[in-house]
Amino acid sequence: MEVIRDPQQMQKRAMGWRRQGVVVGLVPTMGFLHDGHLSLVRIAKAKSDVVVLSLFVNPTQFGPNEDLDRYPSNIQRDLELCEQEGVSVVFMPDADAVYAADASVFVQEEQLSQGLCGLSRPIHFRGVLTVVAKLFNLVLPDLSVFGEKDAQQIRLIRRMVRDLNFPIKIISGPIVREADGVAMSSRNSNLDAASREQAVVLRKSLLDIQQAVSSGECSVAALRKRADGHLADTPLGALDYLEFVDNETLESVAEIGERAVLLAMAVQFPGARLIDNIVLERGAQAALQAK
Ligand code: AMP
Repeated sequence: MEVIRDPQQMQKRAMGWRRQGVVVGLVPTMGFLHDGHLSLVRIAKAKSDVVVLSLFVNPTQFGPNEDLDRYPSNIQRDLELCEQEGVSVVFMPDADAVYAADASVFVQEEQLSQGLCGLSRPIHFRGVLTVVAKLFNLVLPDLSVFGEKDAQQIRLIRRMVRDLNFPIKIISGPIVREADGVAMSSRNSNLDAASREQAVVLRKSLLDIQQAVSSGECSVAALRKRADGHLADTPLGALDYLEFVDNETLESVAEIGERAVLLAMAVQFPGARLIDNIVLERGAQAALQAK
């Protein structure tokens, strides 16, 4: 396994691969790897000749009062895990090599980024899309794998690839969870014991609502109330949002109808803000029940 820090060297290597017809898979991460990240590496490996994992805590996607300076890191362990998983190249540039001091071109999406996490993190997706576009240009992947855990993010990346014509296939991986159902996240390590225990509130609320939908409840107003009891039991978590949106357009819906609905949730704990989501499909559930 090779570690590349210099963006130009990364791009040169990528151009060599392209000339040789090597299929390249990219897995972008911010490090402090867990099984969620590694599941994406396995998906990439199954579909490509070489896998590049980028490990870069991207400063432009953090707001001024967010946790950039507290973002967890263990590079030694990350490199060992990548080696074990058969990653070919870990690309871990320094921030000042990625961004010119007077950088003035950024990727701004104007629809899907407006709600959900975009509301409480107004510059977040501009930073994400900009760095992902840069990674695409540096690694020149044929495919890139992202987690459904960051549901809004992967929908935005698909939109960017469509609207800016990147010749890259975007593949999604399912959410990998801890034994108690909490979605794996590097940020979970910043929770104290009491908050970590209460972090189940997201998964419990989502499953409770999914259950109600499969029992025939379609009204979002009624479904929303199902989370109240769980939130009352977990006083360390302050609800940022619980939103029902169309799974493709991310526009709010008032009813669960024929189209798939993305139910997404964010809860702020003292040490970390956590997100989780589930896709509600009334049609699919009805079909399953009819079998
Ligand atoms: P991060 O390092 O948190 O920026 O995440 C890097 C990639 O891993 C993103 O595509 C995330 O959606 C994905 N990811 C993070 N946590 C999980 C998880 N629990 N299950 C699946 N994918 C994940």
